[in-house]
Amino acid sequence: MSDKQQQLVELAGRLADEFAGRAAQHDRANSFPFENIEALKHSGYSALVVPERHGGMGADLLDFILCQERLAQGCGPTALAINMHLFGIGSMVERAGPQPRPEQGLFLELVGRQRKIIGGGLSEPESGGDWGLFATTARRDGEAYVINGRKVFTSLSPVVDYFMVMATVEGDGPPSSATFAIARNTPGLELVETWDAMGMRATASHDLILKDVRVAAAAMADPRPVGPLGAEAISLFAWFELSIAAVYTGVAIAAMKFTREFAQRFKPFTLERPINYLPGVQFAMAQAQVLAAQSRALYTQTAREHLEGRGADNPEQALAGLIAAKYAAVNNAIRIVDYCMEITGAHGFLRRNPLERLFRDVRAGINHPLSNARAREFIGKVALGVPLSAVPRW
Ligand SMILES: Cc1cc2nc3c(=O)[nH]c(=O)nc-3n(C[C@H](O)[C@H](O)[C@H](O)COP(=O)(O)OP(=O)(O)OC[C@H]3O[C@@H](n4cnc5c(N)ncnc54)[C@H](O)[C@@H]3O)c2cc1C
Repeated sequence: MSDKQQQLVELAGRLADEFAGRAAQHDRANSFPFENIEALKHSGYSALVVPERHGGMGADLLDFILCQERLAQGCGPTALAINMHLFGIGSMVERAGPQPRPEQGLFLELVGRQRKIIGGGLSEPESGGDWGLFATTARRDGEAYVINGRKVFTSLSPVVDYFMVMATVEGDGPPSSATFAIARNTPGLELVETWDAMGMRATASHDLILKDVRVAAAAMADPRPVGPLGAEAISLFAWFELSIAAVYTGVAIAAMKFTREFAQRFKPFTLERPINYLPGVQFAMAQAQVLAAQSRALYTQTAREHLEGRGADNPEQALAGLIAAKYAAVNNAIRIVDYCMEITGAHGFLRRNPLERLFRDVRAGINHPLSNARAREFIGKVALGVPLSAVPRW
């Protein structure tokens, strides 16, 4: 690790250790950790990926995922929630290059110096995780767009200052979609507190309803026709897939840490030594360690390759690689926590131990795009030379 990475990961570690003390309570109460978000803002972590000249910490993709892996070891839901804010900004910084456009500079100042929070408005009840066109629509009306729809899984919703809402732009031309930055107090926006999930409970991923929401045309970003995936998609996927991989690996590492301590101290009276001396326990722990090592090697190496610009000449291959790293990590993370449950026996099943919560949290990983089924489709088609746009799809 570079000195800079060391410093950033230490910061993530201090925050993680603080958040760990509150994780069980927020999980139990299904409450949102406002105090964690304040700490993220105060420490500068909420501006981790913003360049230093705009008030941030200048983390690149690899710095970011190393930090997120560490943060998630303290509180998976807080790491996941702030991931939804940070990944898009990181990708925007990467795509903007050294000289962002004036509106991009303004946006970075909002996040970097004013510590504003950005939230996602991508997923919908109608389209789920199969994105392309959105059921949410944007209709041009003079110098504004009028937006209608419903977004689900809006993580961080209690503290989002600007919702980035993706919508299908209505018009005569070819189908296109765009992202709209919508300030929290805009008339027609309504948050409905629906979030009561099995895991990642403290993310407050509620529903966002948009009813005739008027936004200035200037608030529209990234309009694009629905079609082939290019450099922009590679950057967005790199920042999303690899950070999701790191967050769920962080949850799994927390489970391994608890399991190690448990196995070192738990000594049934029938044994002379604690259970870490049992072969079954050692072999199960070895499996977990190997899976974690595989995940980390894959997503850090994939991040390095992305930073070196590899894959730009073959976008589909690059995307398949990014998707594969996420696919491997989130599925490995589930298996790791399962091994930990095996080692701890019924103790892991008890709510007073953190493993029960980590077991539930880690299960959400496969639902983030690309879900297992879509990841297999993408990776399989690219590997077999089947065009992603082939119709019929199967
Ligand atoms: C904890 C958590 C936090 C989240 N936070 C956010 C957030 O902040 N912002 C946001 O926008 N979203 C967020 N999401 C949503 C997430 O990114 C997905 O969009 C959402 O989980 C929908 O995925 P799905 O697989 O359930 O949905 P669906 O797409 O409805 O899929 C259901 C099932 O059908 C399969 N399926 C559906 N369509 C196809 C297809 N065409 N081909 C193959 N299989 C298909 C899927 O693989 C899956 O098995 C969050 C999700 C979770 C769990």
